[in-house]
Amino acid sequence: MAATWNELQQWQPLAAQMLAHSLAKHRVAHAYLFEGARGTGKKDMALFLAQGLFCLRPTEGIPCKTCDQCQRITSGNHPDVHVVEPDGLSIKKDQIRALQEEFSKSGVESKRKTYIINFADKMTSQAANSLLKFLEEPHPSTTAILLTEQMQLMLPTILSRCQHIPFQSLSPVLFKERLIEQEVHPTMAALLSKLTNQQEEAIRLSTDEWFVQARKIMLKLYEVQKVHPFEAMTRLQSEYLPHFKEKEQIEQSLDLFLHIYKDLLYIQTDKLDHLSYPDQLEVFQKDALQTSTKQLSDQLTTILEAKRKLHQNMNTQLLMEQLMLKLQGGSALV
Ligand SMILES: [Zn+2]
Repeated sequence: MAATWNELQQWQPLAAQMLAHSLAKHRVAHAYLFEGARGTGKKDMALFLAQGLFCLRPTEGIPCKTCDQCQRITSGNHPDVHVVEPDGLSIKKDQIRALQEEFSKSGVESKRKTYIINFADKMTSQAANSLLKFLEEPHPSTTAILLTEQMQLMLPTILSRCQHIPFQSLSPVLFKERLIEQEVHPTMAALLSKLTNQQEEAIRLSTDEWFVQARKIMLKLYEVQKVHPFEAMTRLQSEYLPHFKEKEQIEQSLDLFLHIYKDLLYIQTDKLDHLSYPDQLEVFQKDALQTSTKQLSDQLTTILEAKRKLHQNMNTQLLMEQLMLKLQGGSALV
């Protein structure tokens, strides 16, 4: 499903406004580079721009989404809008050459054409050089839209011929909604939107056994440490240490822990749509009532301090034991 104009405005307010303005004024550039992380709406925006160029009934540059032209672009069946995707790991010279042939054979000089190159940084050097020639002699009614997550991998000579439009990472709340649209379970989407802004990584982690288990272990550890300090020490030995071995895994465990305490703060400030563990709301609400904001902020500082010590290569067991003791010391429940 293609994004609506409202969604695009929410995701990328600057880029959406700028492109709509150019469409309305008929001042669309010959070539654009949309640059930003995966999941920031680059391809949706490219289709929006293509629709804006072909739409039969645009309003102030914004395509109607319902006319024949718009619909054909949405369904990928428009004869003058071409989307090039990597063939395997790269975009090959033949793909760019086929595009050029397609564009030269129409013969109708005034006919508008648009091409979108997804993952443009994956062009082989021959493909990139081939595209460069194409960009150097722009056909007056041709619009190129190059999409990339890694601009630094592209030829400077290509970059210099494109209008660069940066795409910002989505806010966690918007990112969470996008993940849910991609069929990530809402509970997981809430947490993952806090841990990464990479859609692909979030989707992978959402079904990763190790991660699902990690989440459970940290929630349990939190539960135990607030009422049974000594049992928390035992659990560190029996559950935590066997599961979190690598430094990155330990860091992730601390992030999982950090977001539990942040949730308590969100509950205290009534920002429930920011929760990382919405399924724990009932339990967390009780805890939030029994903890002062000052205590919570001390506990957050303690966890951040543990992250810092991790980077100074402190022994994991010692690090976690100290963390448990400090968190208990700062809690109203002990
Ligand atoms: Zn239309």
